[in-house]
Amino acid sequence: MPVRATKRGAERTPLGGEYDVVICGASFAGLAVARELSGSGARVLIVDRYEIGERQTSACAAPTEWLVNLGLEASIRQTFRDLVMHRPEKTYRWTLSWSFSTFDYAQLCELLAAQGDFTFDTAKVDGITRGTVHTVHTDRGDLRAPLVVDALGWRRVLSEQRDAIQPPEARLSRGLEVHPPATGDDLELWLDPKYIVPGYSWAFPAGDELRTGVGSFDPHIKVKEPTVQLAHDLGIGLEGGYQGNWIPHRLRPATGDGVFFAGDSAGHCLPTTAEGIRTALYFGLAVGRELRKVLDGRQTREQALVRYHAFNEEHRYAFDWLWRVQTVVSGINKYPAMDTALDLMSRPRFIRWAFRHYLNIAPPSFALDGASPWSSAPWEEPAEPLMLRAPDGVGTLAAA
Ligand SMILES: Cc1cc2nc3c(=O)[nH]c(=O)nc-3n(C[C@H](O)[C@H](O)[C@H](O)COP(=O)(O)OP(=O)(O)OC[C@H]3O[C@@H](n4cnc5c(N)ncnc54)[C@H](O)[C@@H]3O)c2cc1C
Repeated sequence: MPVRATKRGAERTPLGGEYDVVICGASFAGLAVARELSGSGARVLIVDRYEIGERQTSACAAPTEWLVNLGLEASIRQTFRDLVMHRPEKTYRWTLSWSFSTFDYAQLCELLAAQGDFTFDTAKVDGITRGTVHTVHTDRGDLRAPLVVDALGWRRVLSEQRDAIQPPEARLSRGLEVHPPATGDDLELWLDPKYIVPGYSWAFPAGDELRTGVGSFDPHIKVKEPTVQLAHDLGIGLEGGYQGNWIPHRLRPATGDGVFFAGDSAGHCLPTTAEGIRTALYFGLAVGRELRKVLDGRQTREQALVRYHAFNEEHRYAFDWLWRVQTVVSGINKYPAMDTALDLMSRPRFIRWAFRHYLNIAPPSFALDGASPWSSAPWEEPAEPLMLRAPDGVGTLAAA
């Protein structure tokens, strides 16, 4: 269980000390790293600007099997086997052989944190001085550790090249959404130029709220107006305000000058779909497993960096491929060619083939105990996809 030592306002005292591992960022990637270090006896510190689970960073939809394999199913709000895709003139319903679930962000973070064994504190991370023992600079003081992870999201704060990734010139998408109280039965997507040409729109039901938003693959295009338009068209309000962020859409180096990067900081969000939770968990687990070996004396930090770098690069082909798809979608979205492409894609055999490959970029078996890079089993289609239902959006889950 994490030990909380959060300080706010006048209680915000200086922070410092020596640790075995400092994990910067307490969202999907950072908490996944920490989970793998549980029981190692190491002094692990996680720092984040906010409390764990305080700031939701997405629409929070992920493959159900990933959440279940990580023991996070209590956070699930709704499960979907179908993906409903809207075009201006036509709607497609794709039945997948695996399911997506929406979940409660705060609850998922709490559950994942409970699997770790670390000290947590709030601090803003400003930078790093590298060495055999690194010094992480925060607004509350300096933290020293030989093993440091940047799981801080798209800003890649601990990178020496961070200035090269600032929007709007950098390779980033942008997303914005609202979470008004409303219900729905389907995971819905829009490839409708009315809202956005280089991008897509979504409405993800999660129990008693409908997470509705627009993502642009072009960082220069603002998405507030189309988000308001989509909410208006769906007859929902804008209660609760907006939530948005930049989304890296190119894979970045996962190591640099002795630091490990996981999740959005390493560009682990998949292009085209902007699915970044599963991959943040996946690469976070991979970093955690490499660090665990270092802590157990089974490899050096340098060996861990080399292995994790190689693991990351093995995925470059898939990320590049999805980036090409994203470029094509941007190019043809406002033309009939998009309808032709979707008509061709809608064959059940193609859907099953494509989504199996897509899931296998980061297969759910990787979340099981004992899995390690290069040894996790690829996902094979089951007779029935895993479906869970939370009655009334909350409470105990049962197989549907
Ligand atoms: C509108 C929107 C909707 C999305 N919907 C989905 C979805 O439904 N499914 C999906 O798979 N992906 C979705 N994504 C992508 C997904 O949110 C990201 O890929 C994912 O959150 C990456 O996880 P992460 O742990 O790397 O980083 P984050 O979740 O961004 O976490 C970074 C953490 O670092 C902290 N932090 C940042 N800077 C500092 C600092 N300087 N000092 C201290 N702490 C700091 C933050 O507080 C945060 O806790 C969406 C993205 C957007 C923008």
